[in-house]
Amino acid sequence: MIEDSHQSRTNLSELGEFGLIDLLTKNLAPKLSSTIKSIGDDAAVLDFKDNQTLVTTDLLVEGVHFDLAYMPLKHLGYKAVMVNLSDVYAMNGTATQITIGIACSNRFPVEALEELYAGIELAAKIYNIDVVGGDTTSSTKGLLISITALGYAKKEDVVYRSGAKPNDLLVVTGDLGAAYMGLQILEREKAVFKVNPNSQPDLDAYTYLIERQLKPEARKDIPPLLKDLGLRPTSMIDISDGLSSEIIHLCKNSGVGVNLFEDKIPLDPAVISACEEFELDSTTIALSGGEDYELLFTVAQEDFEKIKANPNFSIIGHMTEAREGMHLVTRGNTKIPLIAKGWNAMEKEED
Ligand SMILES: [Mg+2]
Repeated sequence: MIEDSHQSRTNLSELGEFGLIDLLTKNLAPKLSSTIKSIGDDAAVLDFKDNQTLVTTDLLVEGVHFDLAYMPLKHLGYKAVMVNLSDVYAMNGTATQITIGIACSNRFPVEALEELYAGIELAAKIYNIDVVGGDTTSSTKGLLISITALGYAKKEDVVYRSGAKPNDLLVVTGDLGAAYMGLQILEREKAVFKVNPNSQPDLDAYTYLIERQLKPEARKDIPPLLKDLGLRPTSMIDISDGLSSEIIHLCKNSGVGVNLFEDKIPLDPAVISACEEFELDSTTIALSGGEDYELLFTVAQEDFEKIKANPNFSIIGHMTEAREGMHLVTRGNTKIPLIAKGWNAMEKEED
């Protein structure tokens, strides 16, 4: 599988805390005008002028959220940033700064943290954000990464989970299920590798799926696109746990019901063929798979013309009165109740 290419091992204690901070942050000079003071004082100072401030935190724990057997540290750093930025974009905002908390055991050398930071740095560069603070400490076991992302939006632009109305259209960006199928491929290869460490897996057919799992991209492009289209969603959320649980969040927060149409759920052909190979139902994977980091939102019916031909969007259903309930309308035109079953729940079942 993916081996650490670094042969040199510098013990964390050799550098000391301040030496380590200097090393990890040497390429992180701030570039945004909203960053008044970055790393180097007791706290960062930010100025969002007359905008509202958005703040969100995610914690990733080794063995729970990631497995270093197939997750290269650079990818992990990149993904940890994406998970957070996605939540800022889900508020229809602009992400601007992050802080990073890391706890790791002494099985990680300095070079491993440099790899992790290389991924964080790359994400910061591509997504135009400043890394304005952080803390690194030791843990007795494993690796933990906690990232806090900050951003801003004009008061009138912020989109909550709570604004959907009956008859609004339900829209999703991109396609669903690929990250979960990427995980299935990687888990299978890990199992093969355990039995035969010399096996050379041919993963070419699964490139898209593995990329969606190991190097997801948050939808930074969507808030400005919505603005260009003159479109303000009535509610919005990002898809971290799977389509069904995110739809249920929107319904419960907005006090509405939903009809979701199975035949409208966007699936990449690679997901369909991998589902056939693994004998999994592709609708179930899209509904419960998770980690797609696409955006799910509702818009008023009058906005149909603005989104109908846009390749970024799929209209997958419509909201109803709450008393009508939350349903999946199958290809056979049967209505079945939508249930929340995120990927955490799926993992428990498999145990
Ligand atoms: Mg979220």
